[in-house]
Amino acid sequence: MKVAEKTAGISPEFIAQVRQKISSSTITHFINNQFVPGIRGETFESLEPSTNQILAHAYRGHAEDVDKAAKAARATFGKWKLNAKARKKYLLKIAEVLEKHGDELAVMECLDAGQPLKIVRAQVARAAENFSFYADWAERAMDGRTYPVDAEWVNYTLRVPVGVCGIITPWNAPMMLSTWRIAPALATGNTVVLKPAEWSPLTAWKLAEIIQEADLPPGVFNVVQGFGEEAGDALVRHPDVPLISFTGETTTGSIITKNAADQLKRLSLELGGKSPVIIFEDADLNRATDATIFQIYSFNGERCTANSRALVHESILEEFVSRVVERAKRVKVGHPLDLETEVGPLIHPEHLERVLGYVRIGQEEGARLVTGGERVGSEGNYISPGLFVGENSMRIAQEEIFGPILTVIPFKDEADALQKANDVKYGLAAYVWTRDVTRAHRMALGLEAGMTWINSHNVRHLPTPFGGVKFSGTHREGGEYSLEFYTELKNIALPLTEHPIPKFGK
Ligand code: NAD
Repeated sequence: MKVAEKTAGISPEFIAQVRQKISSSTITHFINNQFVPGIRGETFESLEPSTNQILAHAYRGHAEDVDKAAKAARATFGKWKLNAKARKKYLLKIAEVLEKHGDELAVMECLDAGQPLKIVRAQVARAAENFSFYADWAERAMDGRTYPVDAEWVNYTLRVPVGVCGIITPWNAPMMLSTWRIAPALATGNTVVLKPAEWSPLTAWKLAEIIQEADLPPGVFNVVQGFGEEAGDALVRHPDVPLISFTGETTTGSIITKNAADQLKRLSLELGGKSPVIIFEDADLNRATDATIFQIYSFNGERCTANSRALVHESILEEFVSRVVERAKRVKVGHPLDLETEVGPLIHPEHLERVLGYVRIGQEEGARLVTGGERVGSEGNYISPGLFVGENSMRIAQEEIFGPILTVIPFKDEADALQKANDVKYGLAAYVWTRDVTRAHRMALGLEAGMTWINSHNVRHLPTPFGGVKFSGTHREGGEYSLEFYTELKNIALPLTEHPIPKFGK
């Protein structure tokens, strides 16, 4: 698909410049504030989802590159952790420089991840906000408590940084998901080694440039590009990296948990989802329809909190389906740099195959494919927004498709809705639409989900906890929960009197 003219103030010349920059360089690692090639010199290709042509070559990191980055991060940790005021200043500076480079970041992310410009613009703003939000916490992060005990003792707690944090991110929203971890890690005095996904290496490289421009001390932030089983695995196993924040597939999270076990690493796992939206017969159907459509088709359907299962009361199911179908047919599938595009290409031909495979599975299972789910055009990984009507037991309702495919499932009453909502291995998000306030809260209590939105789509507020239950994750990040994750809690005890000490051997 061709790029339309409407690129919101981003000129074709600017896009050409960004392309030129990408194609004339090999995407490097970033270690000790230097852009460095891989030690073995091997590279891999990153494809442009809208054409599947080669967009960039990046260095393929191995254990020795990770070792170099981890050692750089370890060496600077001792100094970086000491000065909270300086960290705050640096984080605010990163936010400022990031905003300055917003258009370049946006174009890179569109080209590399295939996400539409409108979505990516919001993510650039969020990435900057991640730094400014956590900058404010840098000086507060070390807050502790005091425990006066029997007037003879005082105990107090300190929060100290953990050390070198390994951050491993997926390809669907690389910049937003990485900055959301990097910012609190740095604010609390840790140093970082980031391993971005191999299908979308570009914005991590650009972020390194931003961090260099913000003049952070060498070694505080490092990037190693490469494959999960190589660079990612080496980071998970590195003895100088006591903490891993991982966002990605559930199966990968499980492998990482096993590999990190020997060193008892602290892990935060943000994994897959199969989140339900539950629409009761008394819901505001206009708003519920808007929200459901957005929450499955935005981000190209490659969204961890997508409402990929719509549980709809049987009395309004056909009405709901016809409303969604009518709109789904009009959703604009197009080039990511076109400002009118609502759904861009899927990340990679392999992923397109996987999503199309689920469309076939759904049909074989006997689900009714009412619209979409077809490849669009012959170039790139475009697919039309799809809608099935099926049953909760089907694979298309149980497994994460991670594409713009909605499965609508009827329910009879509240108990049936709750049972079906929970009858899945995942538990990331849930959405409830009803005008009955008590029912909404009953559902929220009963739903096995880390996050529930009532009469709303996913509107994120940075101070709130983010994360899932069951196979969707093990931790919470966001707000103060990130500060807890990226710090160690220490207790210090001090007697206020000459308290009795047992005299052994006297
Ligand atoms: P993935 O698990 O394939 O890869 C994620 C990252 O892990 C990549 O950087 C990859 O290189 C690395 N990796 C792979 N194997 C590894 C190993 N053995 N050791 C260390 N690192 C390894 O996931 P993906 O396909 O990139 O992303 C899509 C998935 O991410 C979906 O399941 C989606 O739901 C999930 N996701 C979850 C959230 C959340 O917050 N819960 C957010 C976004 C995406």
